Amino acid sequence: MDHPIRNLGGKLAFWSFLTFQMGEKMHSIGIDIGGTKMAGALVDDAGNILSELKVPSPIDDSDQMIEAIGSLISALGEGQQVAAVGVAAAGFMSADREIMYHSPNIAAWRNEPLKKRIETKTKLPVLLENDANAAGWAEFRFGAGAGSNSMIMLTIGTGVGGAIISDGILLKGGFGIGGELGHAVLNPGGKQCGCGQRGCVESYCSGTALLKAARELASSGDAKAARLKELMLATGELSGEQLYQAISEDDSAANELISELGQNLGTAIASIYVPLLDPELVVIGGGVSAVGDRLLAPIRSSFERLIPAKGYRPELKIIKAKFLNQAGLIGAADLARHSVS
Ligand SMILES: [Zn+2]
Repeated sequence: MDHPIRNLGGKLAFWSFLTFQMGEKMHSIGIDIGGTKMAGALVDDAGNILSELKVPSPIDDSDQMIEAIGSLISALGEGQQVAAVGVAAAGFMSADREIMYHSPNIAAWRNEPLKKRIETKTKLPVLLENDANAAGWAEFRFGAGAGSNSMIMLTIGTGVGGAIISDGILLKGGFGIGGELGHAVLNPGGKQCGCGQRGCVESYCSGTALLKAARELASSGDAKAARLKELMLATGELSGEQLYQAISEDDSAANELISELGQNLGTAIASIYVPLLDPELVVIGGGVSAVGDRLLAPIRSSFERLIPAKGYRPELKIIKAKFLNQAGLIGAADLARHSVS
């Protein structure tokens, strides 16, 4: 007859083996919180999105925000084995990723104990991460940066987000707020930036700065901006979609603006980011990267003109991101999975 303790030990070993096997097949959930909508996705361990949902962000009420996040998670996790949940959002968060100190897009999130609140609501392990970091991690693991060891990502959207992966590690910094590449100063005393300083990369290279410059040009009466003005007059105010349309039509004024943005970004990459971080590649993502080579070509030409020790250093690549709007979801889900494995 088997010894009862030994027998029990065998059963425990069997169960932990089974749990481990099941754990390997578990999915994770990524949530990307925006100022108008939040998106959620069930993601497998290869970074594939299995299902995706979006709901409005009730940004003025923190209880409703938690309710909305909880409802997304329960809908996505229905009938699934979920290992963990990753939540990506713009904002300054504590180094231990427990507290969202200040989120620019979510008025209700000031000193919000976000991790604990979502964990209490969902009974799942939660990982909180800056949205640009999550996007950079997705590109590093499954996208344009797959196979690299050190890369940076610049997300050109409403602002200019940054993520640094060095020797395979997502850099967070001493206080958890590292990687803010958009706030390197390109032009001291220059254009006002949302961070309170002047002349940051973000104040010249964000989608917001691009649209502002296009609107100014369209209203200036300058003959070269005739197409931009025509588009503007059709709706009253030039929209991002109309500017994208003008760029796609190869309108020279619109292309000049995107080229200027690219040259400024190339300057920052060559003179600040690369000398400091020595990445193997620079990934350009975010909404503005949808214009492709119209943005990448001026970035590369300005980079090649300004890189120190030109011609006597290994060549790094500057490439477009693989994931446009889903990078935050995929990266948050993968970081969450890693945090519990
Ligand atoms: Zn700034």
